[in-house]
Amino acid sequence: EDLINRIAAGEVVERPASVVKELVENSIDAGAHRIVIATAGGGIDLIRITDDGHGMDRTDLMLSVERHATSKLSVDDLDDIRTLGFRGEALASIGSVARLSVASRPADAESGLIITVDNGRRSGPVPQAMNRGTVIEVRDIFALIPARRKFLKSARAEAAAITDVVKRLAMANPEIHFILEGSDRNPSNWPAVSGEGALAARLGQVMGGDFIDNAVPLAMARHGVVVAGLAGLPTYTRANSLSQFYFVNGRSVRDKVLVGAIRAAYADYVFRDRFPVVALYLAVDPGAVDVNVHPAKAELRFQDQGAIRGAVIRAIGTAIAAAGF
Ligand code: ADP
Ligand code: MG
Repeated sequence: EDLINRIAAGEVVERPASVVKELVENSIDAGAHRIVIATAGGGIDLIRITDDGHGMDRTDLMLSVERHATSKLSVDDLDDIRTLGFRGEALASIGSVARLSVASRPADAESGLIITVDNGRRSGPVPQAMNRGTVIEVRDIFALIPARRKFLKSARAEAAAITDVVKRLAMANPEIHFILEGSDRNPSNWPAVSGEGALAARLGQVMGGDFIDNAVPLAMARHGVVVAGLAGLPTYTRANSLSQFYFVNGRSVRDKVLVGAIRAAYADYVFRDRFPVVALYLAVDPGAVDVNVHPAKAELRFQDQGAIRGAVIRAIGTAIAAAGF
């Protein structure tokens, strides 16, 4: 069982940033309005996620660290598997390769409970004074697994990867307040925004006001694809493509079709190793996209790549032409 957990952990727990992604997605699934992510040593020493979501009672708390325990899967949901991560593997996997604690207090409880799993050894639950919601701590990832530990990069690089993951989650969820802090970083605080203009407001928080001042809104619906977001002006470029963000149906993704469409959209304006800054949000029929390629790696496959490419090129072309280019 422990060996199986550790093998499964290889899939889920690649590095501290993948742990952060799983934990924050759980907080989002729990209906959190405010999520605090604290890290030390690039997340290798410590990751602490605090949320104000619905929490877990004793039974759910004990189940949460068991392999294949999920409160989220029902048979009708098979189409939605991507929203479920690895279906009950994340916490069990993390607990098999680190020191994990899960503390939770549901809305109707007078106090909380905490359970710990130290490299596969479980103890608790015991009472814990805490606010409503859930606090998860992960310490010393791979400390007992040198073969895995040696593949981690410097604390600085791991901290940067965590920042990237949290940025993407914040860009996909403007209505949630995100705080990213810790001894290894400058703090970020992105209060919840809602209503019309929420997306632009969140993009301003995360990407900076400069981007907002140098970008045009995207709005296009074509062949079943809805394109939204902000496209940087051709005069506002970067030396690398790290500032290009893609979201499909509310999830951050990596996809060659989208990369190619952005390049094509700006081909007449942006030259010589410069890259436009783009936050692209697509809504497509969930049946028109295969997201089970590898949920953790955020890869997907569009069934009609031509339609996607066409819609993105059109949306950006129209928007920057309207801005006088
Ligand atoms: P999955 O998310 O695929 O269900 P996880 O291992 O990530 O699997 O989580 C296991 C279970 O623990 C979840 O199904 C959920 O019931 C519970 N859980 C985890 N994190 C939280 C949280 N932050 N708030 C409430 N419940 C949580
Ligand atoms: Mg999960």
